[in-house]
Parts: sequence; structure tokens; C-alpha cells
Amino acid sequence: MILVLNKKATKQDVDQLIKRLEFMGFTAVPYQDSIAILKGVDKHTNIESFTTLPYVDKVIATQQQFMLAGKEFKTERTVIKIKDKVIGGQDLTVIAGPCSIESEENIFTIAESVAKTGATILRGGAFKPRSSPYDFQGLGEQGLVFLGNAAQKYNLLSISEVMDISQIDLIAKHIDILQIGTRNMQNFSLLKAVGKSDKPVLLKRGFSATYKDFLLAAEYILNAGNSNVILCERGIRTFETYTRNTLDIAAVPVLHQLSHLPVFVDPSHGTGIRELVVPMAKAAVAAGADGIMVEIHPKPDEALSDAKQTIDIQTFTKLVSSLHKIKAIN
Ligand code: PEP
Ligand code: MN
Repeated sequence: MILVLNKKATKQDVDQLIKRLEFMGFTAVPYQDSIAILKGVDKHTNIESFTTLPYVDKVIATQQQFMLAGKEFKTERTVIKIKDKVIGGQDLTVIAGPCSIESEENIFTIAESVAKTGATILRGGAFKPRSSPYDFQGLGEQGLVFLGNAAQKYNLLSISEVMDISQIDLIAKHIDILQIGTRNMQNFSLLKAVGKSDKPVLLKRGFSATYKDFLLAAEYILNAGNSNVILCERGIRTFETYTRNTLDIAAVPVLHQLSHLPVFVDPSHGTGIRELVVPMAKAAVAAGADGIMVEIHPKPDEALSDAKQTIDIQTFTKLVSSLHKIKAIN
């Protein structure tokens, strides 16, 4: 249940109200302009009685388990502002970069090409969740420094994956957005920890996660105090083996129906096949995605990881221009 508060309520008023609710037997936390009651409400609770509490303007008796991520709580879409950029607003956000940060020269070349297209976020893994321990594991901190510097030089935001709680502070020091990968979508300790960070989090859908699992994972981050969460559909495992994953485009309208959070799509991991990245990126934007994430490289065949799903700069440049046209007619 959510108590929407009067704008006049000060922090002190909110703290007092939370204490009062706790005395009444509820677990309550402040959330944006509201107080979320996380535990203690059941069918015997008299919802009406909350309206008489000081500073409470409205009571939302949400039935959704993903209370904070859900639309019942917040009908207007979440817009995330980072530096001079906006995510989840009217504009389409494009995240692009190599699967892994490979070298200083490589990431600076890619950053320049990304900026030229008008895309706003540079990606690159420094700590890589590789299926095999014998594959390239990423450059670690050195990679983060290269990525952060390249993004800064070309006025881009940066994003990189956090695989472990111990990496959060280091990544947050160099990078603007924390990425939680598909394999960690239900790593609840990690979700709680990034929920305490002041950096926005892009949460990728677990490859076996239902929409409910996905939104409950987002709920962990929101509930820990971080309201800047971006959902990213990146394909799920199905009986189909031709593609690396089955990209679930329906996730876009479904998640928009259920949640106020921005929804992105990653057609690179979603298909695993270079030739499918462009059509699926277009489909994602046509379905209403707020942004896409793609893997690009000046020489895709030479990429140190995920070469088969990586597109070249020319293809990417053309794609960005098509995506803006599709967004405009949506
Ligand atoms: C990535 O984006 O670098 C990545 C590993 O993606 P996923 O977690 O979706 O596999
Ligand atoms: Mn990759």
C-alpha cells in the first residue's frame, strides 16, 4: 500500500509519520513523494483509516507484489536525468559500444563514432560474465578508466556491468550507469546493494525470468532506495536454438502496461546473430521501447567477445537514423 503525501510534508513530518506507522505495526519506507507500506497490510486492515493521518493526500491500495515498480503506484512514466541527458522521456536513447572494452584506442575510436550518430551512452564490459573461464574476462579497472575517459571526451554517458557487490564502488567511481546482467537478475544481495547506490541501474531480464520475476527484481532495487531503474529485455531461453536467445518484443508493451519504468531492448544478446540486430532493433522501437542497447565494433569479426552479434560502425550509423524515424511515427 502507498500513502501519497501532501507536498507540504517536510522530511521531519515524513519521519514522524513513518514512526507512527511502525507503532501501528507496519513496515514503512519513504519513496519519492510517498510512503510505501511494505508489510503489515492484510484483508482486515481498514484502508480508509490511513486517509485521516497527517499529510496523507491519497491512499493507493495496490494489489501488485511489485508495488513500487507497478503502474498502480505511479501512473506517469519514470524519467531519469543523468547530467545533461534524459532517459525515458520523449526521445529514444541509444546505448552502443563493444561487448568488452579491449584497449584505450579501440574504445576512443568507438566513442567518437557513437557520438557522431547522436547516440548518448557508451557501453563496454570491464568485468565480463563469460560462460567459459578460458574466455577473455575483461580489462577490469583499467577498462573502466578507458571507458570513463572516452565517454567524457565525447560528452557521452557510460555504462558497465557490475558482477559482484565488491565492484560497485569501483564502477560507480568511473561510470554513470550500473548494469546488472541477465545471470545476476536474481542475485538479491547484489540488487539490494545497487539499490543503495546513487547511480541509475540498467537491469537486464534473466534469461529464464517471467515478467513478474523481472519486476520483482526491479522492486528489490527500488525498495532499497534507488528509484532510477531501467528495464532491459535481452532475450530468453526457449526451445529454439537457431538464435542465441528468443528476443521477446512483447515484453515492451507488457512492461509498459505493468510498470512506469523505462523499457530498453538489447537485440545483440537477444539474437546472437549480426544480421538480426538491425531488424530487431527496429521492431523494438516500433513496439515502443524507450531505448536500445547494441554491440558495435570497427572490425566486428575481430571483437574479443560476442563477435558474431556485433555490427560495424556503418551499419550502426544507418540504424540510428532509421530508429529515430520509427520513433517519430510512433
Ligand atoms: C552485456 O550486455 O555485456 C551482457 C553480458 O549482457 P547479458 O547480461 O544480457 O548477457
Ligand atoms: Mn556481449
